[in-house]
Amino acid sequence: MESFGFRFLGFELFQLIWMLFPSFRKTINTKLKTRIPYLRTRFMKPIQEFFPLLNQSRNVVITTHQKPDADAMGSSLALKHLLVQLGHSVTVISPTNWAGWVDWMPGTKEVMNYEQDKQKGDDVLEKAEWLFCLDFNIFHRTKAMTDKLQALSCIKILIDHHQEPDSPSFDYGVSDTSKSSTCEMIYDFIIASGNADKINNEISQCIYAGVVADTGSFRFSSTHAGVHTLVADLKSKGLQHGYVHEKLFDNFLENRLRFTGHVLLNRMQVFYEYNTALIAIPKSDLLKYNIKTGDTEGLVNYPQSIQGIKLVALVIDRDEERKWSFRSKGEFDCNTFARKYFEGGGHYNASGGRSSDSLDGTVQRFKEVIKENANLLQ
Ligand code: 5GP
Ligand code: MN
Repeated sequence: MESFGFRFLGFELFQLIWMLFPSFRKTINTKLKTRIPYLRTRFMKPIQEFFPLLNQSRNVVITTHQKPDADAMGSSLALKHLLVQLGHSVTVISPTNWAGWVDWMPGTKEVMNYEQDKQKGDDVLEKAEWLFCLDFNIFHRTKAMTDKLQALSCIKILIDHHQEPDSPSFDYGVSDTSKSSTCEMIYDFIIASGNADKINNEISQCIYAGVVADTGSFRFSSTHAGVHTLVADLKSKGLQHGYVHEKLFDNFLENRLRFTGHVLLNRMQVFYEYNTALIAIPKSDLLKYNIKTGDTEGLVNYPQSIQGIKLVALVIDRDEERKWSFRSKGEFDCNTFARKYFEGGGHYNASGGRSSDSLDGTVQRFKEVIKENANLLQ
């Protein structure tokens, strides 16, 4: 039925009209995607089909998840540095602010903070012909940008490595949970689109930063052989990897280290019967130690060094919500756990979630659900 339909319409002509007339695209897109759920699932074409379009000059917006980390920012900037060399006009828009320790990445100064200047962000988004969505796979992970992104009629491209992508929302894309990081996927994009010669020092630094951050410095099981091949290639192109490590890991203020000490001493509980550790941080700690965006990154990894610990949970009392992070070792599915109990998701061994309950309330809930999952935690 499908092939008959396409033949009848003259699919190629349809595609040409689709590419050339944004208003036509907008009408069809909205009608099909909102009214015929089955057809929506047919719409994310493989990223390889996008490559031939790269030689047209376009207004491009690249965006990522809220509070971008090294992989989110690194992939966005690496892609920007590629697209600019290919003659595109590119703006990276972050939904929110980001950690001070990603400021060193080449190009961060030009990144727009949507939360800070929504009007300017909307103006740029309205002119976008392509929207790249990196390191997230469902619009609500962009918080305040969600409705705006959903309503845009431009071509939307997904590049991401999380589970359960909202594929119908994208025109082209690649979603691959076996990839170590979105930065690795941007490297793949550059190579597969025939642009290996465009990898300069800026791109190398951005990609390497995201790979290091998302693989726990090449430690997690997501570090497949191809990751080391990628690094070897960047090294052969002149990457100074020590510089990136220093910028990522030796780039904090004293208060952050003292805060870490305080948290490990006073805010960590270990439930040996469930092989689980929990860190719950009240707002008063954040204020006392002057903790800023990104300063809590990596905290969730510390309890994993305790013998036998299978699940680590970290919850932080943020203004708008209680934000959870989960990490597991081996056979405990953090993605399902976060989805089921804490309105979140992510990867098998690393996920996040949220709660609008109080800190005490959500901690209580966590204690109940680890009891419920006792079998899986043995
Ligand atoms: P983190 O704990 O470092 O914030 O996040 C761990 C992983 O889970 C990351 O890959 C992140 O993108 C994902 N993640 C964090 N919070 C959420 C959330 O609320 N929803 C979903 N779907 N994924 C999340
Ligand atoms: Mn990532």
